[in-house]
Amino acid sequence: MEKRKQDKKWGHCSHCKYFDSPAKAPLDGEEAACMQPSLSKFSLRVFGTCGCNGFELRAGLSRAIEEPALRV
Ligand code: SF4
Repeated sequence: MEKRKQDKKWGHCSHCKYFDSPAKAPLDGEEAACMQPSLSKFSLRVFGTCGCNGFELRAGLSRAIEEPALRV
């Protein structure tokens, strides 16, 4: 979790444009291939809750979706 706060580029696969899901809004538990150009050669299968710093926001989503939720 600390890593996410330090790295603005990090994001979840379910919100990433390289998550090869046909769904418009993939679910956290969904599994799909990662199509990020430098990672696709590894034929990775990732879950929506996974993530990395190769993340790029999926079309139609706001960056706010990756902001930590406030708990009071
Ligand atoms: S592993 Fe990284 S690049 Fe691939 S879908 Fe997940 S966040 Fe995107």
